[in-house]
Amino acid sequence: MVSCSLERLEEKIKAFSKFGDTGRGGVTRYSLSKEAIDARNEFKRRMEALGATVVTDDMANMYATVTGTENLPAIMSGSHLDSVKQGGNYDGVLGVLAAMEVVETMVKENIPHRHPITVVVWTNEEGARFEPAMMSSGVICGKFEKEAMLASEAKDAPGYTFGEALEKSGFVGDIANRMSPEKYSALVELHIEQGPVLEREGLDIGVVEGVCGMINYEFTFRGQAGHAGTTPMKYRKDALYAAVRTIQYLHDRLDTLDGRLVYTTGKISAHPNIHTIIPEEVRFTLDARHQDPEVIRQVLEIIGSIPPEVEKCEVTYKEAWSRKTVRFTPELVDFVEKSAEDYGYTHMRMFSGPGHDAQYVADVIPTAMIFVPSVGGHSHCELEYTPVENCLKGANVLLKTLLYIDQRY
Ligand SMILES: [Zn+2]
Repeated sequence: MVSCSLERLEEKIKAFSKFGDTGRGGVTRYSLSKEAIDARNEFKRRMEALGATVVTDDMANMYATVTGTENLPAIMSGSHLDSVKQGGNYDGVLGVLAAMEVVETMVKENIPHRHPITVVVWTNEEGARFEPAMMSSGVICGKFEKEAMLASEAKDAPGYTFGEALEKSGFVGDIANRMSPEKYSALVELHIEQGPVLEREGLDIGVVEGVCGMINYEFTFRGQAGHAGTTPMKYRKDALYAAVRTIQYLHDRLDTLDGRLVYTTGKISAHPNIHTIIPEEVRFTLDARHQDPEVIRQVLEIIGSIPPEVEKCEVTYKEAWSRKTVRFTPELVDFVEKSAEDYGYTHMRMFSGPGHDAQYVADVIPTAMIFVPSVGGHSHCELEYTPVENCLKGANVLLKTLLYIDQRY
């Protein structure tokens, strides 16, 4: 059976880990930073050496294409080269490197393919310096207004916009080069799982059926500030206590729903946050994710059952943002599963909790994703790690999936 090269893939992972190396096993490679531009140039150099033509669009998304035997829309694979602050060597970059390795295998082993194959690098997936995440795939898929994105200011340098960084990068190309259904027939993105499930289950491959829908709510509790030494307990309106009771209430109710539901209170603030003053105003967030819209509806029902007053404090809440569940193209998901079977790799179907560029592309062309395990479930940190043997299995599944698509589309 045709296989990608472990040695070549390992070399790629090592080579790209130098761009933004923190010296502690990870990288800081903000989109359009010097480090990210070095990585882009290395990507371009390597793809051109394989005979690819490299173009960029007006959001600096990169498309490196090798021709097929027929004049058909290209099949795409890839991910992102940018990272969060002190991120790992696998999130995003592995999807680019695996796609590069697949193309290298096709070229070096003379594997025939009818469609051109394109390795894509999406600009600013992380949104770590310029918000939001998945910015450039979002623009070209019609999710974000381009002008608003160009005006996005760097978190560490207010006044410095994404538009300026883009212009300075030297990677702005023609709007005509944007991904479109006329030019591209399908996308398969390989990514690390970023969670512990595959490793815990002892499985090689995640066959990704889609991206979980999610909601994010912000709750506000209004009480009354007062002196910690003089106000008897029975007269208090302690907004923090009311918030704690509500968090407990939410946990108790949400735990009765489907076991795949994940929910998090990751942000909480207390005002005035002074140890001698009863908290007057407390806010917290609730992030909840599940693939089934019915379960999300049940979450909303539970939120709706919170009384307007808890422990004598006024309770209000509002949706900060939400996204609907994205389902990938069933035929492509089947190809991923079949490819894993072909190699005898163990696998399971699953949904992605995190967002990925592929979820926006899925609205435009047939799309699927492949997950490989994350050791310890670590991601967005320097501990992020996937053994190269697992990376190779993912690359092989990607190779085979692209070949199935090549036959059928
Ligand atoms: Zn990523």
